[in-house]
Amino acid sequence: MTIVDTPERRQLRELTRSFVTREVLPHLSGWERAGELPRSLHESAAKIGLLGIGFPESVGGSGGDLLDSMVVTEEIIRSGGSSGLIAALFTHGIALPHIVAAQDEALIERYVRPALAGTMIGALAITEPDGGSDVAGIRTCAVRDGDHYVVNGAKTYITSGVRADFVTTAVCTDFPGSGSLSLLVIDKGTPGFTVGRRLEKLGWHCSDTAELSFADVRVPVSNRVGPEDTGFLAIMQQFANERISLATQAYATAQRCVDLAVRWSRDRQTFGRPLVARQVVRHRLAEMHSRTEAARAYVHEVAERVAAGQPVVTEVAIAKNVAVSACDFVVDAALQLHGGFGYMRDAEVERHYRDARLLGIGGGATEIMNEIIAKGMGL
Ligand SMILES: Cc1cc2nc3c(=O)[nH]c(=O)nc-3n(C[C@H](O)[C@H](O)[C@H](O)COP(=O)(O)OP(=O)(O)OC[C@H]3O[C@@H](n4cnc5c(N)ncnc54)[C@H](O)[C@@H]3O)c2cc1C
Repeated sequence: MTIVDTPERRQLRELTRSFVTREVLPHLSGWERAGELPRSLHESAAKIGLLGIGFPESVGGSGGDLLDSMVVTEEIIRSGGSSGLIAALFTHGIALPHIVAAQDEALIERYVRPALAGTMIGALAITEPDGGSDVAGIRTCAVRDGDHYVVNGAKTYITSGVRADFVTTAVCTDFPGSGSLSLLVIDKGTPGFTVGRRLEKLGWHCSDTAELSFADVRVPVSNRVGPEDTGFLAIMQQFANERISLATQAYATAQRCVDLAVRWSRDRQTFGRPLVARQVVRHRLAEMHSRTEAARAYVHEVAERVAAGQPVVTEVAIAKNVAVSACDFVVDAALQLHGGFGYMRDAEVERHYRDARLLGIGGGATEIMNEIIAKGMGL
């Protein structure tokens, strides 16, 4: 709750909290069972300006920066939402930034504005069946044929890929390698582009995840984001925001689980006394709280530097790993304190426990963050 606590951000928290209470909480369990969010939720979030936070008004956004997006994330989870909900409702947060940065008016008109208005859903497809960590190893290829590229290949684990109207897709335009990566926006319904499979997952149940396949898909050259062969740089530049967003989901999930565990420990009686009367329980809660506070403070500090445009690649990687590690510890401890109830679908901590497992995998896994950190140490 400490990101520069301005009146505007307090208002944003209030707006987010009332949106979650009104529009999300009564339906979240149903969406978890259905495996996806309804389109109407995108529209209602857009109507009150939530979808557009972090995007400039000049492209249809609501303004604000990375810190404002973090406020929204913190408040969604604090109010009983989840990282899975954020992944599905805010997939445009990873699908659009490259298009906005390329300042391509036609693409902005066609994809960015409708996505921020909640009338289109976008996805970002980088990961392939052969690997996700090695972005330079992408094999989906796009061969130029007049005014089109002909795309062949496959993508997997794509968030919102089942529902997406368009997919910002990483392709190699020449030989595989970081020097020949480009981003193409590919429309649903383009012949040869199919959603192969809706993937079943451990967590993030309300977020649909897809396998995508491309067989001789003709994509207009005008759907390329920025100049040819600049895709690798564009992807790397946007990773900072995605990693800070995942780090925020991690400490916010930890905070929610601390709150749930404290409440439970006060209420639950064993051997005639509340759990919280035991020193071992109080110390466990203290450790959960301490790790969460430390993670939040570090992520906030790094996020402020990212928002200020400072080159903090190593610190972003540290922030993600520190927050994920705190979250992993806290969700496990919170579930344990809930006993048998913690293992039940009815328990909110059960969902956070499953959802949190993704945070050390997506957006660059923990091991990849460690590679970046080691490089930053000159190793
Ligand atoms: C629910 C979900 C949603 C996702 N959403 C999207 C999405 O919207 N768009 C998208 O493009 N991708 C998405 N992904 C994919 C995600 O980004 C990748 O799963 C992730 O980058 C890891 O890639 P991989 O699964 O291919 O693992 P691999 O790259 O095969 O790695 C396997 C393991 O080895 C480790 N490893 C890899 N290389 C090294 C190394 N050099 N040294 C040490 N250890 C190493 C990794 O850290 C990992 O633990 C999603 C994944 C999931 C599970």
